[in-house]
This record gives sequence, structure tokens and C-alpha cells, in this order.
Amino acid sequence: MDSNLIQESDFLVIGSGIAGLYYALHVADHGRVTIATKLEPSESSTKYAQGGIATVLAQDDSFESHIEDTLQVGAGLCHEEVVRFTVEEGPRHIKRLMQLGVEFTTKPGSSSLDLGREGGHSHRRVVHATDLTGQEVERALLAAVSAHPNVTILDHHMAIDLLTTAPYGMENACFGAYLLDQRSGDVLTHQARVTFLATGGAGKVYLYTSNPDLATGDGIAMAYRAGAAVANMEFFQFHPTLLYHPHAKSFLISEALRGEGGVLRLRDGTEFMKGVHEMGSLAPRDVVARAIDLELKRSGAECVHLDMTHLDSDAVVARFPNIHEMCDSLGIDMRTTPIPVVPAAHYCCGGVVVDPRGASSLRNLSCAGEVTCSGLHGACRLASNSLLEALVFAARAAERDLHKEPARPPKVRPWHSGDAVDSDEAVVVTQNWEELRRFMWNYVGIVRSDKRLDRARRRIELIRDEIREYYWNFLVTGDLLELRNIALVAHLIIESARRRKESRGLHKNIDHPKSEEAYRRDTVLTHVDGPSI
Ligand SMILES: Cc1cc2nc3c(=O)[nH]c(=O)nc-3n(C[C@H](O)[C@H](O)[C@H](O)COP(=O)(O)OP(=O)(O)OC[C@H]3O[C@@H](n4cnc5c(N)ncnc54)[C@H](O)[C@@H]3O)c2cc1C
Repeated sequence: MDSNLIQESDFLVIGSGIAGLYYALHVADHGRVTIATKLEPSESSTKYAQGGIATVLAQDDSFESHIEDTLQVGAGLCHEEVVRFTVEEGPRHIKRLMQLGVEFTTKPGSSSLDLGREGGHSHRRVVHATDLTGQEVERALLAAVSAHPNVTILDHHMAIDLLTTAPYGMENACFGAYLLDQRSGDVLTHQARVTFLATGGAGKVYLYTSNPDLATGDGIAMAYRAGAAVANMEFFQFHPTLLYHPHAKSFLISEALRGEGGVLRLRDGTEFMKGVHEMGSLAPRDVVARAIDLELKRSGAECVHLDMTHLDSDAVVARFPNIHEMCDSLGIDMRTTPIPVVPAAHYCCGGVVVDPRGASSLRNLSCAGEVTCSGLHGACRLASNSLLEALVFAARAAERDLHKEPARPPKVRPWHSGDAVDSDEAVVVTQNWEELRRFMWNYVGIVRSDKRLDRARRRIELIRDEIREYYWNFLVTGDLLELRNIALVAHLIIESARRRKESRGLHKNIDHPKSEEAYRRDTVLTHVDGPSI
């Protein structure tokens, strides 16, 4: 079956989190913008961000200090010039968000912003809207974008693959994407002068994650298949404190609780982080996640506890109303009871390689946000630097993309489903999905070894073979597309981890426990031999 639904706009934005919406606002006065997003428009990781956005606003803080903290946590792999401009441009974007209607929390009785502190930061510099920062930012951006006459939002439209010129015998460039209308099952061929990827992260590659269900690494997989370079996929950040409760799905207990004095303890009350790092419970999150992982493996316990009971209970509830409400609904009163927590996959530091203007290595494909590897985070992300990165790179990319020339083949081939039929074997998807996430957690998780990585590699290749066969025989569905993408992302993580024969930042391999100068470089992977499942 061929689908002749061909559409066109100047800017095709894929994703409606902070990066996609902020970019759309910047280009909307200059052409027709279409935002394709796979669920409801507000559904994104952005919506769940609690802590806030790191930026230098306090009198006693400085750009140099924020730069230094970022470089320190990044363990030798940050690109210093990227860190510098990202930090220096931060305050102006916070101001812009406020002009757009974002209501950040101010100090009691004052109009100056309340600044939180998080792990790895040497000053208070996290701008927040109580503990619902992302929700407030998403609300305001979505309202502004929706009010713009040049912007069309296609919700429940999932990008399948990027349209590229190489298959037409031209120099490779991107000119849009195939979009699956998840309600009708139609596939649109959407052409655009510039395509902007803002599809977020890939936490669903692991069994336990703080990420919402949409985080299946679609953008990374699409860009890689289209020929764009992808880097540093071995650096996956595990958040130390996901709420541990059978009825809580992916609910994060923000690092800001430890910033306000929360202390991690074992069941018997031992403050185990004291002996691990000079900053104790407020150590950088990879250090904390590994320490918890070790304690859990050592003791066989199911969780550790985050204790807020020694703090002023009114202040705790005022600062963290959302977290308090969630815990309370599960019978955990954080004013009197330590919160049970476990580590979980949280943030993908690697992604599509972009230059300082958000351009990928594929012409006319720009990207920002968690889908990218910009050089800001290096081997480990400093808390609350990701929303900042998304703002800075979306704005920079928009500025440059206004003047891009289109690249387009003379006659575009629409989507072709061939002889594919409706699948009667959906079990292939669920089986592979569960298996993949479990072995990624066990073999390619917080602590790795050569043997475990080899095992993971054998398994992922089997799964990818099975998906390849299945993919061409059945009509595409959202679930199948996500499985195909997450399997490719798993392959990229495993491959990158196998190449890095050292331990650095978020990548810990017990067979190579030290950092080596020879590996002080990005791990860049590029796919050059045509389409890949
Ligand atoms: C629980 C939680 C708390 C966090 N707290 C903080 C914090 O306090 N501070 C901070 O700096 N960072 C935080 N982060 C990280 C931060 O929220 C994310 O890195 C950031 O929001 C990513 O923004 P984004 O625009 O790149 O992607 P997202 O906000 O994830 O948006 C991605 C968009 O792409 C769409 N999409 C995905 N695939 C497709 C496809 N194939 N086709 C069409 N659309 C697609 C999605 O539906 C979504 O709209 C947190 C993350 C989580 C999960």
C-alpha cells in the first residue's frame, strides 16, 4: 500500500518538550512551522522535571564557578567553549522564559528568585517553580506556541524516519520525515526546509527509569540511520533516588531534597555516604548512584532511605509540595518517615553530535535537548544543566536555521508499505522489549565488565535480527517503531561501552577501573552503509 499524503512546511520540529517548543517560538515569525509529537503535546520529560534550571544569578556566584563545577563533574570530556557559552547565555533565557509567562518561585516577601542547590553545584543556582519546574515551563511554552498563527501542532504523530537525499543519488541532506498518524494509521511524507529533532532521551532502554514512556531514543535512532554522527552513548546517568514503592511508576525524588539537607541512610540508620565522598549525601549523582548500587548488592536490601525527618517540616512541605503529596498518597509522610529510594536510568548524556549552533553532521538537520551530544555534559551531566542546554541550543539553532537553503530531490517517493499486513504476533514486541530492558539493566547498567558487555552484545544482535525480519513483514505500529529504536539505541550504548576500555564519569568498568589519558575523547559512531533497522 502506498500512502500519498504529502505535506510541507518551512520548519518541521519533531518533539514538543522544552527544546522543540523553544525552537518553534524562535522560528515561527519566519515561516510555517509544524510540530509533530507522538503523544499529547504536553507529554515530555520536560513536564516531569522537578529540580529546575541551573544558571548564575546569585550575588556570590560567578560564571567561572558554574563552568568549573560543570567541567569537574564532566570528568575531562566537556568541551570547554561549549560549557562557557552555555553558562554565560543562561540568565538571558531565564529572563525570556519569565517574559513568556513562566512563574518561577521567588523568595518569601521578595521579587528575587529563590535559588535551589543540587549535587555537584558549589553555589545556590537552580531556578525553580516549587518542585514542578518542568510542568510550569511546558505550560507557558505550549501556550505561547499554540497562540502563534504560523504554528501547527500534529499530536499523536510519530516520526518513523528522516527523509534524506542520499537514496536519490544526491549529497546527503535531510528534507523532512515520515510521520505515522497514530490515530488513523496513515503515514505522511512531511517535507521541510529544515528538520529540527527534539525527541528527548532514551531511559526506556533500562528496566528501571525515571523517564516517561515516550523516552525510547527515537531521535537518536532516526538520526543514526540517516547517517548523522552519534557520540558518547556509554554515558548514561542513573539518578540515585527514584521512589521505591510497588504503586509508584517512575516517580523521581529530586536531588533538591538532598540540597535542602536530606540524608541518605541504610535501614539501620547508617549515613553510608559519609565514608564515600566529602560532600556526603550531596555528592555528584553518579557517585551516589554507585554507592547505593553497592550497598544494595552488598546487603540484599531492596532500597535505601532518604531522610528529611530532621528538617523543619513546614519548610519541607512548602518547598516540595508535589513530592510530599505523592509520598503521602502512598502512606509515606516524609515529615516523619524516611523515603524509600532506588537508583534508576535518568539521563542520556550521549546523542546526536551537534556543533555550537545545534547543527548535526547531516545537512539541514538541527537538534537540541536530550537527543543531542553537544559537548556540555562530557562524561557526566551536572544536575539541572539539561534544561539549560535545551534552551541555549534551541535558540542558537533557530538563529542559524532561518537562512538555510532547502535540499530536495526532484520527485519524492512517498511511504511504501509493500506487502506488509497487520501483525498477529504482537508477542514478539513485548517479549523482546522486556528481555532487552532487563539485560541492559543487568549487564550494561551502573557498573559494567567486559564479560557482561560481550553477553549484552550477543543478545542485542539476536533481538535486532528478529526485529529486522518482523519489521518488513508487518504494518508499522507505534510499539514496533519504539522497539526498533530502543534496540538500536541499546546497540549503540553497548558498542560505545565496549570501545571505552577505562572508567570515567558515568562509565564504570571493573576490568578497567582507572581513567586513561588515551581515552580522553568522545566515542563517535556513524552509520554509513545505508538504512539500518
Ligand atoms: C523525572 C525527571 C526529572 C528531571 N528533572 C530535571 C531538572 O530538574 N532539571 C534539568 O535540567 N533536567 C531535568 N530532567 C531532564 C530534563 O527534563 C530533560 O533532559 C529535558 O526535559 C529534555 O527536554 P527535550 O525537549 O530534549 O525532550 P522532552 O522534554 O523529553 O520532549 C521530547 C518530545 O519528543 C516527542 N517525541 C519523542 N519521539 C518522537 C517521535 N518519534 N515522533 C514524534 N515525537 C516524538 C515526545 O513525545 C516529546 O514531546 C529531568 C528528567 C526527568 C525524567
